[in-house]
Amino acid sequence: MNAKNRRIFEVLAQRYPDAHCELLHETPFQLLISTVLSAQTTDVQVNKVMPAVYERLPDAKAWLSLSLGEIEETIKSIGLYKSKARHIYALVRMLLEEWGGEVPRTLEELTKLPGVGRKTANVVLANAYGVPSIAVDTHVFRLANRIGIAHEKNVAKTEAALQKALDPDLWIQAHHLLIFHGRALCTARSPKCDLCPIRDDCDYDKSQRALARAALRQKAKKSKEPSPRVPSREKGRP
Ligand code: SF4
Repeated sequence: MNAKNRRIFEVLAQRYPDAHCELLHETPFQLLISTVLSAQTTDVQVNKVMPAVYERLPDAKAWLSLSLGEIEETIKSIGLYKSKARHIYALVRMLLEEWGGEVPRTLEELTKLPGVGRKTANVVLANAYGVPSIAVDTHVFRLANRIGIAHEKNVAKTEAALQKALDPDLWIQAHHLLIFHGRALCTARSPKCDLCPIRDDCDYDKSQRALARAALRQKAKKSKEPSPRVPSREKGRP
């Protein structure tokens, strides 16, 4: 891991000492369900609904008793609830049939579950089991490539680049730190670079400053250029 990346995460860790998984859960199963539900919506929205649901339905066995329609009813205030309900309906059955209701502990097994992609699997591995993993969501993808820790065009390659660039004992926390920074300052549309504690190590900010300097040079050059001459044939006219 190079000095620049080490410095970036040291600074971010000072800035966000409480960076953590924000989905409320008490078991790996609950984290798995909440992560599936969090796709295309916010953790806040999932947290509004699920803690009360988990009191009634704490594990896979309890969810097995629900019909598809009842699952839809249970999660209907969360975005895309119909397709998520279908995934959860199938996921619960697969968990019970193949893993006795336990959430598996490997990426390969987790990604066999309906509705579970690499990001969800990595969130569960990291936060339920402490397995070094980097879940690349929209914030992590944006920041990693903006800052210049990765230079990739897709999520899978960004995950691989981050794994290569960072020490494994930092992977879990790096994910949380990038998300917290993405929400606080490095937002998608208008990053607040003037307030950013890692701007000196950020490729995006360097490129923006270089563009601004070039624009200033161009402006200064234009202002020194002589004004266009009046064409000679017009000089004698009143
Ligand atoms: S300097 Fe700007 S682009 Fe770079 S990490 Fe900070 S806020 Fe994001």
